[in-house]
Amino acid sequence: MTITTHITNCGARFASDTEIGLAYTLTACCHASGKGGDSPSGVVCRNCYAPVPSYHGVPLNWWIAVEHVAAQRCPIPEDCATDTLWLLESA
Ligand SMILES: [Zn+2]
Ligand SMILES: [Zn+2]
Repeated sequence: MTITTHITNCGARFASDTEIGLAYTLTACCHASGKGGDSPSGVVCRNCYAPVPSYHGVPLNWWIAVEHVAAQRCPIPEDCATDTLWLLESA
């Protein structure tokens, strides 16, 4: 198993594939990754095909992490994103 997942205190879910060195956000509905599809953002949940924000369709970076945790009403999105990226990178 090369996928590690991380859930922030505010409830945002992230995954990191340590084999290919790629991290990404997981959808709030199914804890799945996003993929291109028919939605206003152009991205849908890979599991249930519900429309999800476009940041689910691209590899993780700090700005995307901030958006993702802010969407879970994180009180400290910048710090939360920094901590999350650090955790995923050191996993
Ligand atoms: Zn879903
Ligand atoms: Zn947070």
